Amino acid sequence: IQPDPTLELAIRTIVDYPKPGISFRDITTLLGDARAFRRAVDQLVQPYAGLKIDKVAGIEARGFILGGAVAHQISSGFVPIRKKGKLPHETVRIAYSLEYGIDEMEMHKDAIEPGEKVVVVDDLIATGGTAEAAIKLLQSIGAEVVAACFIIDLPDLQGAKKIEALGVPVHALMEFE
Ligand code: IMP
Repeated sequence: IQPDPTLELAIRTIVDYPKPGISFRDITTLLGDARAFRRAVDQLVQPYAGLKIDKVAGIEARGFILGGAVAHQISSGFVPIRKKGKLPHETVRIAYSLEYGIDEMEMHKDAIEPGEKVVVVDDLIATGGTAEAAIKLLQSIGAEVVAACFIIDLPDLQGAKKIEALGVPVHALMEFE
């Protein structure tokens, strides 16, 4: 994917959020810009042109917005991967590390048939811990995870390398330090 400066300009950076020393990359400005949102989704789906993708799995919460648009565009189903306790039917659950402590995410056990091809979508990959947990959860119910895609990669944190080490290619539209 070629870098697109118009998309990078649509991202807002909030300095010292959520705490001092962190620069938060805010995609709500991109989502609110009709042209930028369209371009971002067009670019996210580009690697899957001509492939048969059964499901897009979006990670709560910004992965729902992008993943829903991606799923619509490639005519696949959409599966939400949620924080624990939100899904009504039988679930599979995985614990993963956050900066402070651990959290758990889950999905419906019957959301994906064994062997179905799945693309994971989120807004941003940092350490890769969130995406790694999502991929392992999907694989635990027999999904074939064919790729993970993001608007933003923070390559200094090496998250994409962590995901590629699982054998899952990573696509990101832009990188920030
Ligand atoms: P990771 O698990 O360290 O890769 O963190 C990625 C998760 O944290 C994703 O679900 C992102 O939505 C969220 N995240 C971390 N940093 C940022 C940021 O600067 N902007 C938006 N989301 C972020």
